[in-house]
Amino acid sequence: MTRGAYDGLTPRHAVCEACGHHLGGAEIRDDHIRCPECAHDSPVRPPPPGARDATLAALRRRRDVFRTIAVVLVAGLMILIALLRL
Ligand SMILES: [Zn+2]
Repeated sequence: MTRGAYDGLTPRHAVCEACGHHLGGAEIRDDHIRCPECAHDSPVRPPPPGARDATLAALRRRRDVFRTIAVVLVAGLMILIALLRL
């Protein structure tokens, strides 16, 4: 018996290709997820090339924005403390 590459995994963001039902938590068998609503077997496909890189780039941009905000806030707080001590 051959097993699919994704068998046993339970993806959180899967959607039934037939009815759109959210399949989060359903287990992959033979690289398919059975929809509990319509019983359609949706094939599991790897993300398209570049999708992971785009997600990582977006996460890094968001991290950089938060890091910049944190640096500005800390610097402003230090200036405020220095001014209050004068
Ligand atoms: Zn369905």
